Amino acid sequence: MIVYKFGGASVKNADAVKNATKIIGQNKNEPLIVVVSAMGKTTNALERITELFFQGNLAGANESLDELKQYHLELAYGLFPKKSHIIFNAIERSFYNLYYYLQQPPGRNYNYEYDRVVSAGEMISSIIVSEYLEEQEIHNRWYNAKDLIITDTNYRDANVDWLKTEKSVRSKIIPYFKKNNQIPNPVVVTQGFLGGTTQGFITTLGREGSDYTAAILGYTLRAREVVIWKDVAGLLNADPKILPNTVLLKNISYQEAIELAYFGATIIHPKTLKPLLKRSIPLKVKSFYNSEQEGSIINRDYINDNSHPSYIFKTNQMLLSIFPKDFSFIAEHNLSRIFSEFARLGIKINLMQNSALSFSVCFDHDKIKTPALLKDLEKIYHLKYNDNLDLITIRHYEKANLDEILQNKEILLEQKSRTTLQWVVKNPIKN
Ligand code: ASP
Ligand code: MG
Repeated sequence: MIVYKFGGASVKNADAVKNATKIIGQNKNEPLIVVVSAMGKTTNALERITELFFQGNLAGANESLDELKQYHLELAYGLFPKKSHIIFNAIERSFYNLYYYLQQPPGRNYNYEYDRVVSAGEMISSIIVSEYLEEQEIHNRWYNAKDLIITDTNYRDANVDWLKTEKSVRSKIIPYFKKNNQIPNPVVVTQGFLGGTTQGFITTLGREGSDYTAAILGYTLRAREVVIWKDVAGLLNADPKILPNTVLLKNISYQEAIELAYFGATIIHPKTLKPLLKRSIPLKVKSFYNSEQEGSIINRDYINDNSHPSYIFKTNQMLLSIFPKDFSFIAEHNLSRIFSEFARLGIKINLMQNSALSFSVCFDHDKIKTPALLKDLEKIYHLKYNDNLDLITIRHYEKANLDEILQNKEILLEQKSRTTLQWVVKNPIKN
């Protein structure tokens, strides 16, 4: 068994869906689970619609829904020649349900309403893909992810109940594959990013959560491998928008990938790797446009982890230095006080360093959280800070051309371990 995940870009228009179908059709002799995201930028649009809904701007919400419906209908026109195809009815019905839902005033729980509205993107996308596969004679069964992935009620960032999920996934999907073992390549289609509570309410797993869905299904079904189809060649050692000469990381270990995701590489949703690591299921990242190319593979092999340096750039950083007002040493009770403030406000520390008289912390600047943090700490400590900084993380820096990266940036703080170099820098162009 194998799991394929197609992200928003790989189903953003009719040609992309045709390409995804071609890739699905190339899989022979193995049961396949297809996980799809919402089409193109649909999730962003639905997020805006939820906001308008909460602001009581029904006209605005309806107008954006009209646009979104048009986009999906046009995409479907490009796939289904017969205008009488049931897909058009299904799209109309999904949007009708959304228009209808927005007529009622929203409930008090924003995150609950968010999941109700935003989940429509994956629902519609998966129905279109499933119908199109059928049209191309790739027989498949569509599942509602809310019946497969069982979560708690932490709407918008729901936590998976692994035992219940494993039970429901296996009891639903395995019999389908068994019953259809005459078909050379039975296919299941479901939505990424979505789950459901035991009460049957829809939940979402956090933005970009479709990779995670693929991993959950791979884990519970003990898949042979999970493949994420992307609009890039695979895992690159830097964001090509920032560094021009990127290298493809052909094979890295789960641990290396977890480190990269932890430091802020955005290519794989960070939660994705743990379930795969637990059952040693390889994760492939392959090019959607060149499906025959190998792409990248993440597995237990770590021999190539240090073949290339990887660069991760995080912007909008704040560097805060904290000094006891009486010039006493930074002792453990100070640290415990400072950490509890960060934990209370939910601010993730990206890097920290202490000296005898001060403690420095680098974190993502946030319009709401940063002022609240400063206000609290100011009561007890002297504070000095810089904002609008960049945090540069270089894994396997011994092979990196550091001068090129630095290019007249000013280093405010440096930290080095055996494998990782981090700099907090002031960018002269920006500041
Ligand atoms: N559609 C969701 C998002 O854009 C989930 C995903 O694409 O992974 O965040
Ligand atoms: Mg995505």
